[in-house]
Amino acid sequence: MAKLSVNDLDLQGKRVLTRVDYNVPMAEGDGAMVINDDTRIRATLPTLKVMIEKGAKIILAAHLGRPKGERVDSMSLQPVAEKLSELIGQTVAFCDQCVGDTVTEAVAQLKEGGLLLLENVRYHPEEEANETAFAEQLAANADIYVNDAFGAAHRAHASTVGVPTVVTGRGGQCAAGLLMERELQFLGDELESPDNPFVVILGGAKVSDKIKVIDRLLEKADTIIIGGAMAYTFKLAKGFTVGKSLVEPDKINVAQAALDKASERSVQFLLPTDNLIAEPTEIDGKFAFGDYRVNDCENIPDDMEGVDIGPKSAEAFSEAIKGAKTILWNGPMGIFEDSRFAEGTYNVAKAVCEATATGAISIIGGGDSVKALNKAGLGDQVTFMSTGGGASLEFLEGNELPGVTALNDK
Ligand code: AMP
Repeated sequence: MAKLSVNDLDLQGKRVLTRVDYNVPMAEGDGAMVINDDTRIRATLPTLKVMIEKGAKIILAAHLGRPKGERVDSMSLQPVAEKLSELIGQTVAFCDQCVGDTVTEAVAQLKEGGLLLLENVRYHPEEEANETAFAEQLAANADIYVNDAFGAAHRAHASTVGVPTVVTGRGGQCAAGLLMERELQFLGDELESPDNPFVVILGGAKVSDKIKVIDRLLEKADTIIIGGAMAYTFKLAKGFTVGKSLVEPDKINVAQAALDKASERSVQFLLPTDNLIAEPTEIDGKFAFGDYRVNDCENIPDDMEGVDIGPKSAEAFSEAIKGAKTILWNGPMGIFEDSRFAEGTYNVAKAVCEATATGAISIIGGGDSVKALNKAGLGDQVTFMSTGGGASLEFLEGNELPGVTALNDK
């Protein structure tokens, strides 16, 4: 059932506690913390603008990093308040607490359409423990709760589950923000009944991280394409050698079961038939890759590591992607962080964008594929990029996300 949306609410003069995902990458520069990538802050602007127009008094709650229940200055959300002020074009007040009298005083100062960002909720151990007393303190100044933090919705924490439970319990409304709604629409509804052909592209490090997604999507997909280190566990299952490639030998049976299911269901299952291989070595006492070359063969030599798909595989994958009406992509085809090994991922990215330009719906399931697309400057040429990492994967596995379940149905 669809969840209540921020668009459905009357917010005039209401105090709206809004959970956002401001877990942005930061680094120290000139003695202060500097935000390296403000994508997650920008992603909340549509929801905030709707709430400002509706005259809400907006109280923002978020976490940053893993302070493990203690105040850690480098994980303060203060720089986010400054960045958000700049992006939204109005002052965003900051409160250096997230519960207690100072918050109550700061909320009392809020005007209609005003914004207040609370300090990192993870400074309190009760947040991750989802303690009711803490959730009640967080909810003390809220008439309404909105959750726009899809990336945190797989965690049953006080700010994602405890607060909506308290607010619902006293008859208040709990709704999804616009970003959350889009995530549920694309990762949920669109993939529930995709237009065919439906092509799923999975890559990245480990089969074990994505096997549940593969298993579920084998029920719906016409083609499954596997790249990245994941592919080598499948290659082992098929009896090929993988040299020094990253593999999970204890997952061979799991890989084989997926291959069998694909064949039973006549799902096309594409693995790389050639690879880019590199020699693992040491430079100045540190791990590095030495010589690298295309390995135009199924077996990888003993002393070499597979680091990307090869050109023949990229072509075969692109051909399959071209014919798709729905595409889901999660995980790079190789170690794309190293520009020498990024071509396979970029070729797949280009094919996904080309298919999108000719009418396919392309959904990028978060994490490193989003990074790769942005790095290639193609981020605006796909239909939807998920802002979640772990949350996206759990949702794609078909799991309920506690932070979504806690919101009211329409
Ligand atoms: P994931 O988070 O599972 O999507 O994995 C992403 C990571 O997988 C990236 O950091 C890639 O560098 C890594 N990766 C992709 N292909 C390979 C490969 N062939 N060998 C080692 N790591 C890889």
